[in-house]
Amino acid sequence: MRIKPLDRSIFKEHITINTIADAIDKKHIYIYCPICNKSKYSRSKVLHIHKSSANLSNRLEVRKGHCSTYDTTFNISITDDTQRL
Ligand SMILES: [Zn+2]
Repeated sequence: MRIKPLDRSIFKEHITINTIADAIDKKHIYIYCPICNKSKYSRSKVLHIHKSSANLSNRLEVRKGHCSTYDTTFNISITDDTQRL
């Protein structure tokens, strides 16, 4: 039996990404996305920005991603390695 691939251009597959926030300030959490590039022709990473609720402490935040190609969930660790702005 041959398996016919789905046409994946018509829907976004879901991916969960476990990552560490690059930076945080009182308003936002900043993450360079491991999968989003600025354009087809660029390898520069896109910075995704989420609300931080004025909480700068180390913790885990689970957020829906802002990725263009995939439907993503981010498990964002805010650690000692996360830059405080
Ligand atoms: Zn992304």
